[in-house]
Amino acid sequence: MSEYQYNKVTPEMIEKFKEIAPKRVLVGDEINEDFTHDEMAIYGKARPEVLVEATSTEEVAAIVKLCNENKVPVTPSGARTGLVGGAVSIGGGVMISLTKMNKILEYDKENFVVKIQSGVLLNDLAQDAEKQGLLYPPDPGEKFATVGGNVATNAGGMRAVKYGCTRDYVRAMTVVLPTGEIVKLGATVSKTSSGYSLLNLMIGSEGTLGIITELTLKVIPAPKSVISLIIPYENLEDCIATVPKFFMNHLAPQALEFMEKEVVMDTEKFLGKQVYPKEMEGIEVGAYLLATFDGNSEEQLEDIVEQAAEVVVEAGAIDVLVADTPALKKDAWAVRGALLEAIEADTVLLDECDVVVPTNKIAEFLTYTKSLEAEADFRVKSFGHAGDGNLHIYTCSNDMEEAEFKKQVAVFMDKVYAKATEFGGMISGEHGIGHGKMDYLAESLGPVQMRIMEGVKEVFDPNMILNPGKICYKL
Ligand SMILES: Cc1cc2nc3c(=O)[nH]c(=O)nc-3n(C[C@H](O)[C@H](O)[C@H](O)COP(=O)(O)OP(=O)(O)OC[C@H]3O[C@@H](n4cnc5c(N)ncnc54)[C@H](O)[C@@H]3O)c2cc1C
Repeated sequence: MSEYQYNKVTPEMIEKFKEIAPKRVLVGDEINEDFTHDEMAIYGKARPEVLVEATSTEEVAAIVKLCNENKVPVTPSGARTGLVGGAVSIGGGVMISLTKMNKILEYDKENFVVKIQSGVLLNDLAQDAEKQGLLYPPDPGEKFATVGGNVATNAGGMRAVKYGCTRDYVRAMTVVLPTGEIVKLGATVSKTSSGYSLLNLMIGSEGTLGIITELTLKVIPAPKSVISLIIPYENLEDCIATVPKFFMNHLAPQALEFMEKEVVMDTEKFLGKQVYPKEMEGIEVGAYLLATFDGNSEEQLEDIVEQAAEVVVEAGAIDVLVADTPALKKDAWAVRGALLEAIEADTVLLDECDVVVPTNKIAEFLTYTKSLEAEADFRVKSFGHAGDGNLHIYTCSNDMEEAEFKKQVAVFMDKVYAKATEFGGMISGEHGIGHGKMDYLAESLGPVQMRIMEGVKEVFDPNMILNPGKICYKL
């Protein structure tokens, strides 16, 4: 139980909010239902008392300061595409939406950085950078998330295997602290050894330590050519066993995703497309790798494709399909991009886990989760980032009672997280902890690390007003 006492928003506070952010303050039932949950509603819904759509750092600071003085909780929200109940006002109070802070401010092409407001959508940044001949490498599946949300969750995505996660592209940021103070963390430099990295502490803190309002992000010159390969296998074990062989052979895929046939077929049905082969050379396909390579000339890519084909066929692939037309490449990736959407469209009750395990343990881990399916009344569907061992495992039901579903899922998740820890993995590879995964984090990290996290939280947020009930601080 929380030892901190919170207050309700008062009419006087609402008047002050309206002075700070005229016409951008919504109260009670004026707030759309969309703001009561993120993409994983199973972790609970809550309507904030007040929603403020901020347009500047100063507005955010003024609102947070007022809330801190009055001990009213504040929840920052981006596009609410999160999968762990992070942007949900479970403690009541004020939600500050950053989505109207959506300006790309300036490129510095000599230092390879771009400065943006934190509510810019990933899709908008990616397209704008492309027009400049640049690439912003982080590529999480949901393109309509905000970049601020990506930074707050240290989002990963498809290109992490070659280029790293969001953390690797954050150079500097402007943050409003829970006290309402504004700080600038980091700088437009490519290295630093200047005390504790508060910048890195803020990345992945899921809106519990500060509200990010501006970001300076590293970009790179865009590779000139990109090509994707669809690689079918008879079974998942052979498919996963190929992964280290790419790296041993100096093939550095930009993306390396695995998918099992059943999940691909469901998604193709959802999209109304047939893209992936189901049978080849008389062999029934069981799983696929989808690999993308980039390079700076067509010739370089041709060499890579030739070498990759040799490596994977020797490692047990049935064949290799080169997605050499823009349409095929788009379709192949459209299926990958819609896996979760297809699961959501076909499922009434849904929960997920986002563990990361050493890559050589992926197949064994998935075989284990499948074995647990036999003991449960729900279905289990999985896919993930083969190159970095980050697995998304979904429990799905259309006919169970919610209470029974939750009870059975809790048993399943306990075992799944325990196995991930036993294999040397971690609770979350990229979605974060939010509200939904707090117990599993505490279980896996143990009391000493949790005590340090709680201490950090208290230093940043003495009144515990910022996004309470998330990561390490229970309500
Ligand atoms: C179809 C689908 C595919 C996805 N694929 C991926 C994937 O490949 N990789 C991946 O990592 N994630 C993925 N996600 C999860 C989700 O898109 C990411 O977690 C994303 O980073 C959330 O951004 P958002 O703007 O929606 O943030 P929200 O959901 O609004 O918020 C997420 C958390 O960040 C905090 N927050 C938001 N903005 C700020 C800010 N400016 N300052 C401080 N805190 C803030 C919130 O309080 C909350 O705790 C996927 C989700 C969906 C629905």
